[in-house]
Amino acid sequence: MKGDDLFSEALKLFPSGVNSPVRFYRPVPVMFERGRGSRIYDVNGKEYIDYSLGFGPMILGHADPDVASAIKRQADNGILFGSITENEVRLGNIIKNHVKSIEKMRFTNSGTEATMHAIRLARGYTKRKYILKMEGGFHGAHDYALIKSGSGTMTFGVPSSNGVPEEITKTVLVGKYNDENSIESLFNEYGNDIAAVITEPILGNIGVINPELGFLEFLREITNKYNSLLIFDEVITGFRFAFSGYQDIINIKPDITTMGKIIGGGAPIGLFGSSSEIMDLISPSGNVYESGTFSGNPLSMAAGIAAMEKLQGMDYSRINNYTADLVKSLYDIFNDKNIDVNINHYGSMFQIFFNKNEVKTYDDAIKSDKDRFFKFFKKMLDHNVYLPPSQFETNFVSFAHGRDDLNKTIEAAKEAVSCI
Ligand code: PMP
Repeated sequence: MKGDDLFSEALKLFPSGVNSPVRFYRPVPVMFERGRGSRIYDVNGKEYIDYSLGFGPMILGHADPDVASAIKRQADNGILFGSITENEVRLGNIIKNHVKSIEKMRFTNSGTEATMHAIRLARGYTKRKYILKMEGGFHGAHDYALIKSGSGTMTFGVPSSNGVPEEITKTVLVGKYNDENSIESLFNEYGNDIAAVITEPILGNIGVINPELGFLEFLREITNKYNSLLIFDEVITGFRFAFSGYQDIINIKPDITTMGKIIGGGAPIGLFGSSSEIMDLISPSGNVYESGTFSGNPLSMAAGIAAMEKLQGMDYSRINNYTADLVKSLYDIFNDKNIDVNINHYGSMFQIFFNKNEVKTYDDAIKSDKDRFFKFFKKMLDHNVYLPPSQFETNFVSFAHGRDDLNKTIEAAKEAVSCI
């Protein structure tokens, strides 16, 4: 098979044959060639319904014609100038007008960069040392985020990476999401030295875990009480459930927000934003340094504007209802076979946990049957459905998914479930 041969070549070039860890799985990961709408096609011509959506950004589906022609137009006009451009102003305004907490922002090239700079900014503003993150929370692959982290780090058993100096690890406190006591006791001990709490408002990198009632409000209150900042990492949740941040849906105002994925229409992007007062600490108006040759790059700006202008007119209830219907059908299918399962979802995000108990915390998530999850993933692949290849990721639904996709996914799940 063409894909197998290509992967043998890839193995000689890249560790485990891939350029980001969760793309690897045994024996040979699918090698994709093209996509259109809800469907992606591998190098052997096989078609799949896609619920990974590039790990989230492709909310309009693949090869959206408006996004594609915006990128082509920009390519014809030059792809890098290293200077401020009109499209940065346009995309910046779209975001500022729809996320209440953001007065000013900086575009970056990835979510990783965004959280790295957001953390430095919080430390620079408060002149404090500690960052408090959640166990299983994933904020990208820089040193301050790779401590009890989620996503690929959990998939491959390295939640705290080698190579991160102990001095850095010691400046990151780890609390438990949905466990107020664990956060409170860290504040009791370190409160006056905590620069910021950083969290995904909905955990999306250990599967999906929703906030318990009052938990995020509690984080807002305790950070206010200690004059620490609250950073919402909305790299996944930003513009995913409505044309705003999740923060605007729940009406909690973080001090700093990070975004990425959707706002770039599938091109590389990240963003961190805050009040003007805090953002003006960024160089050159302030002394917190941040920079990037490709930041605000014309291709990502063009793709982002095209995607966001389109998304603004979309009825999010369509993808939310699709997800709710799919989750309900999956429960019926698993229940019919007496398989213990919990499916967490919110809006157009969902994840299946083979676990007889509800999954509300990191500790619950890791008790799920990962081997069964992987068997299900492989069986779904056989039946032309591509789920993200890890228990510790999230499924997404796009505006390109329709009833035909839903019915085919349900049929595939019925077939898959008999062999797991
Ligand atoms: N934060 C969150 C919540 C994420 O889910 C991710 C990536 N999945 C990141 C940050 C890092 O973003 P990127 O992969 O663009 O560096």
